[in-house]
Amino acid sequence: MTYSPTVLSPLVIPREAHPISRRNISSAALKVLYGLRDAGYQSYLVGGAVRDLLAGRQPKDFDVATDATPEQVREVFRNCRIIGRRFRLAHVVFGREIIEVATFRANDDDGSGDRETVGDGRLTRDNVYGSIEDDAVRRDFTANALYYAIEDFSVRDYVGGYSDVQARTLRLIGDPATRYREDPVRMLRAVRLAAKLGFDIDTSAAQPMTELSVLLAGAAPARLFDESLKLFLSGHGEASFLGLERHDLLGALLPETAEALRTNRSGLLRSMVLDGLRNTDSRIEEEKPVTPAFLYAVLLWPAYCRELARLQAQGLEPSVAQQRAADRVTLHQAKRIALPRRFSLPMQEIWLMQSRFTLRQKKRVFRLLSHPRFRAAFDFLELRAKVAPELAADLLFWREAQTQAPGLATDSSESGDGFGPEGVEDLGVDAGPAPRRRRRRRPRGGGAPAQS
Ligand code: ATP
Ligand code: MG
Repeated sequence: MTYSPTVLSPLVIPREAHPISRRNISSAALKVLYGLRDAGYQSYLVGGAVRDLLAGRQPKDFDVATDATPEQVREVFRNCRIIGRRFRLAHVVFGREIIEVATFRANDDDGSGDRETVGDGRLTRDNVYGSIEDDAVRRDFTANALYYAIEDFSVRDYVGGYSDVQARTLRLIGDPATRYREDPVRMLRAVRLAAKLGFDIDTSAAQPMTELSVLLAGAAPARLFDESLKLFLSGHGEASFLGLERHDLLGALLPETAEALRTNRSGLLRSMVLDGLRNTDSRIEEEKPVTPAFLYAVLLWPAYCRELARLQAQGLEPSVAQQRAADRVTLHQAKRIALPRRFSLPMQEIWLMQSRFTLRQKKRVFRLLSHPRFRAAFDFLELRAKVAPELAADLLFWREAQTQAPGLATDSSESGDGFGPEGVEDLGVDAGPAPRRRRRRRPRGGGAPAQS
């Protein structure tokens, strides 16, 4: 083990002065905390769980920090496996609940340990054990660096996190710009945690974001996909989106959507995205399934509409333009966020089906109703219709068609694949009626994607 020399004396908040009760800690976490203590190791509940408990919320998981190495943790618990390469962790498994046990880690500032950064200051390797003080200062926000000690039920605060939680403030530990350069995803974490907890981002942590948002282009696309799901599918999607906008981070995550929203002067595209996120939040609140495919159909719809308008202006036939717009938006977005194909394909289907809602011939109606993505696409139409009243007739027709042919329309939200915040909306943008309908009838109002 390498110990670096940081020594800070903590503020100790005794049991009678804070609200954390063992009743709110899972029995699995308590078993791990006591097990390590009984084996002679230091044993703390740490991170998001302590923060959430102090903020009066029930944590979704419990993390433990200790001075035992992962191998020593495995000697204490038979139900334990060691995971991770960049930093090895012990997972103690209790049925479906996993308690993550991390050995105290150091910020190896003198460069003597097994730690690497690349030219721009990003951390690439991070394998140095340390003291609890070291472990506290390498965390991101002060609110995330509080330790609940099982030995005396006190909370130990090395960086001022306790008063920051009371003031409902997210403050970075250390110099914000340096911490963002080390790991730009911390900017997204700030927005996400502020949205989830209703905390304010401290001015010094908010101020560098505009300038440093470009660094997110260097983050791993797979990690940004995971982070995007935490931002938008944890029940606080709308607040997260507003936070990203406020801190100039939206363009770093969804470049083409940000640009489309900027040029959509009516604001209808933005209203639709916000409606969609709000619906998703309510579905999560009601414990209904949600899916990244539908989420991304909403988030990238502005980009799709913009690209579609561009291609149609070049004279491309609508169906060709639709497919090409869908492919391009998917391809461009993948450079930033690694959206797996199992989500991007149904996302595209949801988009491409929108033009088929204008077709009414009996055969086509039956075919569309039995499409496995019908329900999700219909939910999407419903979202669009909220901001595009001219879609009301289509909406009514397809709603009735489902009641007249029950059993035909697949309700994917019930089938368990998690499709469809029923009601992600669309915009005042017409995805482009299919070519046949266009030749036969007058196109609906707003036949071209609204760019103003
Ligand atoms: P959530 O409630 O969403 O799980 P969390 O704070 O627990 O929030 P995790 O990603 O589970 O978030 O991380 C656990 C802890 O690890 C954090 O509380 C923080 O102390 C530390 N941490 C996580 N990500 C970083 C990071 N990028 N830089 C520094 N510390 C981090
Ligand atoms: Mg956590």
